[in-house]
Amino acid sequence: MSKLPNITTSIFTVMSKMAAEYNAINLSQGFPNFPVDERLTAIVSKLAKEDVHQYTPMSGYQPLLSKIVTLVKSSYERTVQADTELLITAGATQAIFTTILALVKLNDEVLILDPSYDCYEAPVLLCNANPVRVALNDDYTPNWEIIEKACTPKTKMIIINNPHNPTGKILTKSDFDSLEILLEKYPDILVLSDEVYEYITFEEKHISAHTQKKLLNRCVMVSSFGKSFHVTGWKIGYLVAPEYLMKEIKKVHQFLVFSVNSICQVAISDYLDFVSVNEIGKFYQEKRDYFRQLLKDSRFKLMPCEGTYFQVVSYAAISNENDVDFCKRLIVEHGVAAIPISTFYADGKDLKLIRFCFAKDNATLEEAAKRLCAI
Ligand code: PMP
Ligand code: GLN
Repeated sequence: MSKLPNITTSIFTVMSKMAAEYNAINLSQGFPNFPVDERLTAIVSKLAKEDVHQYTPMSGYQPLLSKIVTLVKSSYERTVQADTELLITAGATQAIFTTILALVKLNDEVLILDPSYDCYEAPVLLCNANPVRVALNDDYTPNWEIIEKACTPKTKMIIINNPHNPTGKILTKSDFDSLEILLEKYPDILVLSDEVYEYITFEEKHISAHTQKKLLNRCVMVSSFGKSFHVTGWKIGYLVAPEYLMKEIKKVHQFLVFSVNSICQVAISDYLDFVSVNEIGKFYQEKRDYFRQLLKDSRFKLMPCEGTYFQVVSYAAISNENDVDFCKRLIVEHGVAAIPISTFYADGKDLKLIRFCFAKDNATLEEAAKRLCAI
């Protein structure tokens, strides 16, 4: 008897596997294919011979905690208390899972905005709670009226993902104002703010939950160094939560993993001494612009991309197939892998949209675009 009867293998696993089988260019699962900064790999090589291989304290390697405090302060002018409000996790996935497991109870409702990234629903179900999917507007802005209508006395949490995977949409000041008004009416609702792409925004600046003073006492903020430093496989992330929530979150964390990969924590801590997160947005903006330029004369229609390293495109002018079939054919016949957007919707809504990851070296983007322009 399955505890998660309707959860299937993640689309990222499915598409990456198929891309490998057909030797296709993998623009599906979101990970960079260019080399990691040599300064970071040099740190790891040096550290390998040092005494960094045993458990770190449960909340994380102390110098890394301190550097995250500095990072949050310099990015958002928020002072986080390292000992009571900060936790290093095995990527954002574990931060999100741990938070939900610690805070959501039987029959609670958790609002998830549709389309949404795939890792929120399963932990809610494992709590025997109910995920309530609320549609974003057609332009992927939150519809605060509909969100408010979905709130009930059972609503425990609303999950926001900003910048948004897969659509690349970012939240505005007015969105946060609406969220605050809503939360004033519902004093028991918590916010889980997934900001793994916080440093990957383009024309508009990212507005973090960290900067919203009225939210701080009821919001868990999640980030990931995998995204910021191009090391998705390291699975080092962190969460910030007010002390009363953090106490509960740590109770789960200590029995889920206790502590996370020591050498990678130390490496990131050392690296933070001389790397600047302010360059990441510019770096990916150039990639986005280059990829869009390369696809300009293709039959794909490019959707807006305000942040993240994902470009959504419509293939409606090319085919009437559903997006899963189209993605499979794209791999088999054209040698490019993408992610079908229907898989981000609870009801599998097919809008003839697919997502490409442009966190790739230019040669890869050029070859992929050549194949895509030939369709
Ligand atoms: N949230 C979002 C929106 C993501 O795109 C991802 C994928 N990386 C994660 C969370 C999980 O991040 P991590 O790899 O650090 O677990
Ligand atoms: N976040 C990545 C993406 O959106 C996937 C990570 C994973 O495979 N779990 O592509």
